This record gives sequence, C-alpha cells and structure tokens, in this order.
Amino acid sequence: MRGMMMDYPLTLQHFLERNRRLFGSKRIVSRTKSGLHRYSCADYVRRVDRLANALKSLGVGHGDRIGTLAWNTYRHLELYFAVPCMGAVLHTINLRLSPEHIAFIVNDAGDRLLVVDHEILPLVERIRPALTTVDQIIVMSDEPDLSDDFLDYEALLAAASDEFIWPELDENAAAGICYTSGTTGNPKGVVYSHRALYLHSMGIAQVDNLGLSESDRVLPVVPMFHANAWGLVHTAVAVGADQILPGPAPTPADILSLIESERVTISAGVPTVWIGALAEIRRGERQYDLSSLRTIAIGGSAPPPSLIEAYRREISVPILHAWGMTETTPVASVCRIKTTMLNLSEEERFDILTKQGPAVMGVDLTIVDDAGNEVPWDGVSFGEIVVRGPWITAGYLHTDTPDRFINGWFRTGDVATIDPEGYVQIVDRTKDLVKSGGEWISSVELEGKIMGHPDVLEAAVIAIPDEMRGERPLALVVARPGATLSKDDILEHLRPQVDRFALPDDVVFIEEVPKTSVGKFDKKVLRERHSTSRNLAR
Ligand code: AMP
Repeated sequence: MRGMMMDYPLTLQHFLERNRRLFGSKRIVSRTKSGLHRYSCADYVRRVDRLANALKSLGVGHGDRIGTLAWNTYRHLELYFAVPCMGAVLHTINLRLSPEHIAFIVNDAGDRLLVVDHEILPLVERIRPALTTVDQIIVMSDEPDLSDDFLDYEALLAAASDEFIWPELDENAAAGICYTSGTTGNPKGVVYSHRALYLHSMGIAQVDNLGLSESDRVLPVVPMFHANAWGLVHTAVAVGADQILPGPAPTPADILSLIESERVTISAGVPTVWIGALAEIRRGERQYDLSSLRTIAIGGSAPPPSLIEAYRREISVPILHAWGMTETTPVASVCRIKTTMLNLSEEERFDILTKQGPAVMGVDLTIVDDAGNEVPWDGVSFGEIVVRGPWITAGYLHTDTPDRFINGWFRTGDVATIDPEGYVQIVDRTKDLVKSGGEWISSVELEGKIMGHPDVLEAAVIAIPDEMRGERPLALVVARPGATLSKDDILEHLRPQVDRFALPDDVVFIEEVPKTSVGKFDKKVLRERHSTSRNLAR
C-alpha cells in the first residue's frame, strides 16, 4: 500500500512565499561602507521579485548557472532566493580563492552571468580574459560609476516589474553550487538540490540542531560563499528570523559592534573569527554588550577547548560546536548535552562540549576502517567518518570520484572516534594525522592543548618527515602580543597532558598562522614552509 499524501515539492519557493505572507515586518540589516543598510522583509521579497524579472529579461532560464562574487549583504541574499526560485542555479564563488581557481570554477560550472560586489571588480577584470562561458557581468554597488562593459544591479532592478510568477519546480532540480576549498588539486563542485537545501534548513531549525526560530536575530559571519553560510540564511528566511549581514571583510570589532547594536541572538563562524573576537574583547579598549547572544555556533575546524571555556567563563556565551563539510550542505553534527548526561560533573560535561557531537536528525553517520567495516563506538577506536542522507552529496560536478564513496556512504576524509553515546570526536583529517613509529598522533588534540596556554594566540601542528619514526609533530605557535614564550614553556605545558611520544619534537614561533580562503589554518602552506625545519627537542 502506498501512502496517500500530496507529492508537494520541497523547494526554496516555499520559504520565500512563507516569508512574504508571514514576516513582512521582520528586518534585514547589512553593514556597508557608508553605514548600516536596513529594510523590511516586505521590501526584501519585493526586490527578489524584481530581480527575478530582471534576470529573466537578460535571458536567464531553467538550469542556467549564475555565479556570485559577493560578501554577506542584502543584495547577495536577494540572489540567494531569486536565482533558485526562478529555476536557475546560484553558484556562490569563494572570492578568497586564487584568480586561477576562480576562473577554473566559473568555467567548470559554466556560469552564464556573474554578479559581483563593486569592491571585487579588480579581481573580475583580472580573470575576465580566462572566462569562457560568461556573457555578462552585473555589478552590485551603492555608487554606480561603471563602464559599458558591466550592467548595474540597481538599474536592472529599477527597470523591472515587482510581480513575478514563479515557475513550478522539481524538488530534485539543482538550486545551488559550492566548490570545495580544494587543498589538493582543483576545487570540486557540489551541486545542491532544492530538496537538500529545504531539508537541511528544516534540520537547522530543530531545537536539538541550531534551533533557529522567528525570535532570533541571526548574524552569519560564515561567508555566503562558504557552504551556503551553513544554511543560516535559507533557514532565517523560512522561519522569519531577522538577519544581520556583516558586509565586506568584517573585523572582530565590526562583528562585536554589530552583535551589540543589533541585539544579535545567534552568530556563527570558524574558530579563527572567535579567537580574533576574544582577543579584541580582552584588549579592553572598548566594552561590548553581548548580553543578547544566546549562542555562537562554531565549526569548520576544531575550536580549541580553551576558546569554548573562555566564552563560557569570560563572556557567558555558550558555544555550540558543529561539524560538517561543503559536501554535507554542511551541518551534519551538533554537540548538545543529552538530558541523561546532566548528572555528569562540570568537567565531564565540558569535555563532551569540545566534541563534534552526535549526528543531527536526517544524517546517518558512522566510522569505518579502510575496508569499509564499521569501527566500534567505544570512544577510543578510530576510523574515517562516513555519512549518508538527503543532504549529503552523491558525487561531484564533472568529476568521477568513486574513491570518495564506500558501500553507499560518502567518505569524509575525517578521522574520528565515536563514544557509546554517539558523540563524534574528530582526531584529524586523514592527511593531517601524524604517524610516528607506528603510533598515531592527533594534530587537532595537540593544537587544542597548546592553545590552552594563556600566552598562546594560535597554534598549528604538522607532521615532518623523520628517518627513524616516519613522521614527528612540529608545533608552530603564535604568541599573544606582548608575551614572551619559549619552546620549553610550551613543552612543559604539554608534558603533563599528552603521551611522551606525542610531545612535539620542536616548537617554532611564527608571526601568524596562514589561513585558507575560508579562514582555517592552512596546513599545506605550513608544510611547504616548515617541513625541513628540524631541531630535536628530546
Ligand atoms: P569545508 O568543506 O571547507 O567546510 O571543510 C570541511 C572540513 O572542515 C571537514 O571535513 C573537517 O575536516 C573540517 N571541520 C569542519 N567542522 C569541524 C569541526 N567542528 N571540528 C573539526 N574539523 C571540522
């Protein structure tokens, strides 16, 4: 017997229409060069309609790819809905990638149109000769002063009607594309369906996930070009939350000022953002009222436990630790303490909060060995995380990668343990683990512990070749401004906390840890710079 429910398509159109009907007076605030831009959701959806008409008049049709090179702004948010809801595909491009990678992915995605922030025009001019599929470039600017080579976003909207009849869409049609940040080789395209984005947003709104709701004022620091801004902006439109968009290259002071002035309730970003914000708060030159925050979601790389602790103790803001990838839309696990664990000691509960947490509802997750056999959930044995579910990718655009799948599961490349309660703890990326004399050493664990030293701002650990033991860990440390730190200080700090074989062979002090295009520690660059730096400490 078949179920008798309607075959109602799960598309982003439902979110847009829900916002139009229910949340016209909610607010969208964007930081711009000339101050804060504010408008209501009623204005927002009207401009989304105009934008769809404008794009249609330029010939954009079903399945056409529209690339964006843009920060988190209200105009980018307009594109986030107009493009997929009219049946086209929004390709959000990471503007921090190298020009060569950007040109590669625009061509690979087959973008017909590019829509770019005015400040990004010099980059666009540079890559333009290499673009093979782009017909036109639209520029989003407050002060249009454009050559005839470009179309002006605001002029297009002004000329368009604000009534648009949205077409019927298949829920499995492509809605968006993001490329992975590509630490090896060229970036690979992940193509999201409407259905995946819809179900992922339903997930984000669950109380045991990020619990996004109408009462929130959301500040996504995570860029809209990185894994759909972790689904926050789609979900905010659906649930009617206010949105605070931080605009071009926000500094820690910009982020803290927005939280204060806009009474933000939830923000999200990679650990380096919150390390920077903490340093700004501790500098103490300005006091920030952060009392409106109910939580900060952190993911993208492992936050050092000392960071989670500092936010709890010094700022009274609980950190919500989440894990995911571009390929998982991205949120796949969120760490919340189960009520059955409330009798644990404060220290035990804190240890749990540093883990990546159980899989969210909708994602099936386990760990496997190289042959694909499940590894026990005993909190000690580790294996590669594999996932499956309606918002997990089934492949990459134009690239055949059978090695990324095993028995119908997606292989994440992350190595983890899972405890009997189902809490995932990432040990490393497969390629970042240090294999020393047959023992595995977790660079993530060492980094977290080193960053627990009060005079350390940032620390990264890489494997360096070693004749005797294959590989050994090398610690690269950034001291807090004004602090004097020695190698012995770091090693003495670590000695009581880690096994002897895991103590780094050397500690090198550096000015800054290089970051990837999405703000994570760039271990590839560190390996290139430091793989020959050896000076045995023991
Ligand atoms: P991206 O596709 O750029 O978002 O990168 C995804 C990768 O970031 C994952 O495969 C992990 O290696 C890493 N990552 C994401 N969230 C976390 C986390 N909470 N802890 C540790 N690593 C993480």
